[in-house]
Amino acid sequence: MRASDIGEFNLIDILRRLLGKGGGDLVCGAGDDAALFRGRDGGLWAYTTDAMVEGVHFDLSYTSWHSLGYRALAVNLSDLASMGGYGTSYALVALGLRGDVEVEAVEEMYRGMLECGEAFSCRVAGGDIVRSPGGLFVSVSLVGALEGDRYLARGNARPGELILATGFLGDSRLGMLWLAGGGDAAHPCALRHLYPRPRREEGRLALQLGATAAIDVSDGLLRDLGHICEESGVGAEIHLDDIPVSREARELAAALGTDPLQAALHGGEDYELLLTAAEDASEEMAERLPASVIGKVTEGSGVTVLDREGKRVEVSRSGYEHFGEE
Ligand SMILES: [Mg+2]
Repeated sequence: MRASDIGEFNLIDILRRLLGKGGGDLVCGAGDDAALFRGRDGGLWAYTTDAMVEGVHFDLSYTSWHSLGYRALAVNLSDLASMGGYGTSYALVALGLRGDVEVEAVEEMYRGMLECGEAFSCRVAGGDIVRSPGGLFVSVSLVGALEGDRYLARGNARPGELILATGFLGDSRLGMLWLAGGGDAAHPCALRHLYPRPRREEGRLALQLGATAAIDVSDGLLRDLGHICEESGVGAEIHLDDIPVSREARELAAALGTDPLQAALHGGEDYELLLTAAEDASEEMAERLPASVIGKVTEGSGVTVLDREGKRVEVSRSGYEHFGEE
């Protein structure tokens, strides 16, 4: 059996069975945005890794080296943010390079990484470089100290809670389509794609205000909310009209002849947070965070999408899956 026959998520399930759950100092094992372990000082540390591969996660014809470095760090910091924020963090970077790559390009990538690290409390502490005869890859591993003893886990959502999303969804996908078509990198949606903002402060505040579960939107709203449902053993209902879509995304979608909601539901790479919380806490979160309520957690399983009249909408295309065909 090949990886592409079963898809990325089924392969992850197989590996999770081999790895087992946490235990001992490993407070949260495979299956969340980051693993958590308890340090000798008693504090919680989050540990995560994410790789970006040329031709799969980025295209150098419209991604600058600077933004590549920035994104490689940002997508990892986003995973720490979705555990409930972090104090400070340290990164190791593994690079796979072709021999003909310009040294200045690699320096520029590191400048992007350092800019992101400076903005979001992360120090690049070292790494490894190997030769890659195929495409370029950048793999970042990150360790960060959580600030308290609590964290946001994918498995903590309970029926009756509300679901919130920070910021706007769909900008990144539309920005990528715009860039791929030769559009200018200064468009707000292009910037959202090239320079995603890890929601560190928002993750921290959400945890303080009583959020229960969280995930960052890397694979698309439907797929990522689906992960919360699976891990929590619950279902979810979301309202199409309540999905936060920016004015820039609506305008760009119109110009590209596409539906901004499709980009929001399936696009991914927005690195916003999906959060769940009891009603009271949700109201406070909606007031104090740049976040809006998009639906609620239900009994059952899977994500149901409802239109303005409360009728179920069939959603055709699933989010991006790495090995399988769509
Ligand atoms: Mg994640």
